[in-house]
Amino acid sequence: MTRVFNFSAGPAALPEPVLRQAAEEMLDWHGAGCGVMEMSHRGKEFTSIVERAEADFRALLAIPDEYRVLFLQGGATQQFAQIPMNLLVGGSADYLVTGTWSKKAYSEAKHLAAALGGAARLAGSTEADGFARLLRADELDLDPNARYLHLCTNETIHGVELRESSQLPPTDAPLVADMSSHILSRPVDVRRYGLIYAGAQKNIGPSGLVIVIVREDLLGRAAPVTPTIMDYRVMADNGSMLNTPATYAIYIAGLVFQWLRAQGGLAAVEANAIAKAQLLYGCLDSSAFYDNRVERSSRSRMNIPFLLRDDSLDEAFLAGAKEAGLTQLKGHKSVGGMRASLYNAMPLAGVQALVDYMRDFSARNG
Ligand code: PMP
Repeated sequence: MTRVFNFSAGPAALPEPVLRQAAEEMLDWHGAGCGVMEMSHRGKEFTSIVERAEADFRALLAIPDEYRVLFLQGGATQQFAQIPMNLLVGGSADYLVTGTWSKKAYSEAKHLAAALGGAARLAGSTEADGFARLLRADELDLDPNARYLHLCTNETIHGVELRESSQLPPTDAPLVADMSSHILSRPVDVRRYGLIYAGAQKNIGPSGLVIVIVREDLLGRAAPVTPTIMDYRVMADNGSMLNTPATYAIYIAGLVFQWLRAQGGLAAVEANAIAKAQLLYGCLDSSAFYDNRVERSSRSRMNIPFLLRDDSLDEAFLAGAKEAGLTQLKGHKSVGGMRASLYNAMPLAGVQALVDYMRDFSARNG
């Protein structure tokens, strides 16, 4: 068996020890006589799995007691709808648009707003600048009465990341953040947010699962039209098990959380993320062959888009990379070029192999 270095933006590489453990437990989980996919979500075995997963997730992010953790389905995209259904009723919400994903969230909120008796406002956008940077404070047009302010703290396609609390918009409205593509890559001050959500298929586990961290006081505000299963209050009251949850995805997520804790938690994880990102940006910055168009202070550690200045070499670059065991480097079709996603499961050796390949390719073709 040969495993490649997989730079996919998601579904993305998972830690090899997690996959090995899952394989070992596939037919018989801890003497249960069946695998996790085959057991009742209400039985004591699965209950212990989900309780441990939540406890480890809470420990990693130091989630305060007044926040609930929900294991939901429908991916992050379902949250684009579920958030306005739960939080918008009768008011207006502000949206910051800094890339494809926050634009989609804004567009879904606009689509639903009238039916919810509310409104969604654009409070700032970098679209005219090609989504190549974060918003500056002086560009924001904030509504002091907004029900919430939505932002995406890591734009997976454009490679723009907001990491510092000081970069958050100055508003008293609860912040609602899509952290899908950088959650668990560094410590976060959860108290700065009313709600955080993340699709699993990058730094957490299998796709379909989405984790929501929501402050207690934001529960119970859903519009009357909200389907029962979309109501955060109902899901929180039922321990995310109003219906059958994505059991296997939660189990894998739990193994990933254990793996992260065993590494020393998110401070250690962040140090690795910095080392990996510096290695790749260092290569890009020292070369006239490659280009990254994101403003330096907005650069993502997780998703690094780059261009070959001569795009006629793109196909040869990708073919050679694949041969070298470096896969899924093609950029998103909406922006072209390349993209390397350096999530937690990507080892430093993978980034080193990529950088070695890039230097070699530019020397041969420059
Ligand atoms: N938000 C961000 C930041 C994403 O990267 C993605 C998926 N790439 C989504 C939302 C949508 O996630 P899903 O496909 O799980 O609905």
